[in-house]
Amino acid sequence: MRCSRGGCSEAAVVDQPYAGEHLCRSHFLASVRERVRRELHRQVPRLRGGVMAVALSGGKDSATLLSLLQELLGDRRGVRLVAITIDEGISGYRGGTLEKARDLCERLGVEHVVRSFREELGTTTEEAVGVPTDGSPCAACGVWRRVLLNRAARELQAVRLALGFNLDDLAQTVLMNLVRGEPHRLRQMAPHRFHHPGLVPRIAPLAPIPEREVYLYAALTEIPFDHSRCPHADRAGRNLFRDVLWRLEDGLPGTRHALLRTRERILPLLDGAGPGVPGICLECGEASSGGICRPCTYLRVIRHARENPFVFATGSGAG
Ligand code: SF4
Repeated sequence: MRCSRGGCSEAAVVDQPYAGEHLCRSHFLASVRERVRRELHRQVPRLRGGVMAVALSGGKDSATLLSLLQELLGDRRGVRLVAITIDEGISGYRGGTLEKARDLCERLGVEHVVRSFREELGTTTEEAVGVPTDGSPCAACGVWRRVLLNRAARELQAVRLALGFNLDDLAQTVLMNLVRGEPHRLRQMAPHRFHHPGLVPRIAPLAPIPEREVYLYAALTEIPFDHSRCPHADRAGRNLFRDVLWRLEDGLPGTRHALLRTRERILPLLDGAGPGVPGICLECGEASSGGICRPCTYLRVIRHARENPFVFATGSGAG
């Protein structure tokens, strides 16, 4: 297959059924940069300076995001990029990704902040395994990470917190929220449209880029990233949605983009429909849509499990 851009006869490296194109290496790399540049401008139209915090796990998405942001914003006067990595305490996994995250920051000359569940919350994801926190350690791991990322970004006085969510991730989240009958949660997804004291607005500049194109971009530009997979990834609640979405995209190219457009169209209709803009957690003071936030609720479950090891070991406790 040849590149479909006018006048180009190079071999294509990627097929994009959703766009009706196949692109050669140089047109593909340029198109990723351009799509991310436009998306960044759309999500942050007037970036005048300040700290741009970037969540960096060390995997392909966040490593690609940091590299692209360094390219797009690195020279902009008054803008300071700071990468934040959260160590969840997942044995046999986080050590490798942390090393790759450090390598990348050194290579790009980006300041790097590391925070850990153990030091900040007194627990780890490993401790949530086998404890009934919504059936999978991912439930607690995800919300704890979100809290720590926000806390670190807030302490840096960041104007935005950039997350490495790609098109697939975001389309899965839209589908999950719709299928679960929780459309109000579409407002809580990145990119944020609201400002709330204590909550650094999250953005997702990789929103228009499909997951496999992020991978291809990282591989072609030799961005160092860790290929390992979290040992608990098979238990993540979104796996079913990932499979369904792949099948939909295969049969109906453009489904993922359509889901993101659906969110954009629904958002104005959601004003006043259920909890959207968060309040404050009565326990930790962080943003929360209920009285006690989910991160604190999960910490209570962990504490309860620690104090009642026999109940949880025999599986007769309900958490
Ligand atoms: Fe945490 Fe689950 Fe992601 Fe592993 S797969 S890092 S447990 S959210």
